[in-house]
Amino acid sequence: MKVLVLGGTGEARSIADRLAAMPGQLVITSLAGRVSNPRLPAGEVRIGGFGGPAGLAEWLRAERVDLVIDATHPFAARITANAVEAAAACGLPLLLVRRPAWTPVPGDDWRRVPSLASAASGLADLDAARAFLTIGRQGLAHFADLETPWFLIRCVEPPEPPLPARAEVVLSRGPFTVTGELDLMRRRRIDVLVTKNSGGRAAVAKLAAARELGMPVVMVSRPPVPPDVPAVASVDAAIAWFRALLNG
Ligand code: NAP
Repeated sequence: MKVLVLGGTGEARSIADRLAAMPGQLVITSLAGRVSNPRLPAGEVRIGGFGGPAGLAEWLRAERVDLVIDATHPFAARITANAVEAAAACGLPLLLVRRPAWTPVPGDDWRRVPSLASAASGLADLDAARAFLTIGRQGLAHFADLETPWFLIRCVEPPEPPLPARAEVVLSRGPFTVTGELDLMRRRRIDVLVTKNSGGRAAVAKLAAARELGMPVVMVSRPPVPPDVPAVASVDAAIAWFRALLNG
């Protein structure tokens, strides 16, 4: 089998590593190219967009791919929609791998919002002075016109303008610890956390820290997953699905 893994997540890396270790399997991981020094999986890696669903379909045919595994980030909705369309056009099986969303536990004070735009407009109602913005590099423009609060922006790569005028940027890549997050939030006197509901362990420590500090969390809900596409929630489940496919 020749498998395309749409990547950009730890799960995609683990899936590619495990597929590449199976005798007779060829795996190509595709990365968008957003990060300058990405952690690379085993197998082949290609970097950059395909040119929409038609470009992806053309690439799948040219490379004679047998199967597509979309293990992209839960908020990377466009590439997922492209994968659904291209796999259907090529008659290829497609598996979605989506880690479970975070869910609140007692002590959490979550304000759920449907989008980054509503996260930005909702901040005004919270009367917060200093916000910790952990939404990644993309989407910061939604917050650029806000005079208040002051922002601590954390991302992996330097963000591009427009950014909020009153902000400090810290560049750092997880995983993060609860102790580290508590320390950062206390030192910067943060009073609200803004995050996307990415799920997973690497970035979950900030939620425990916010809980311990009694801090509200503006939580951006995930975009919907496409209907009628097989989906699993873990690397192990993806590998089991792949073995089942191989065994007919
Ligand atoms: P997106 O909005 O869904 O995709 C935008 C465009 O980027 C796609 O149309 C595609 O271009 C290209 N693209 C995205 N993922 C690709 C991949 N794995 N391989 C090749 N091209 C890809 O995606 P995004 O939110 O910008 O995320 C980009 C990448 O970063 C994804 O691979 C995702 O797994 C990773 N990531 C995203 C987030 C997040 O919060 N969004 C967080 C962590 C990691 P063409 O149409 O030209 O093919």
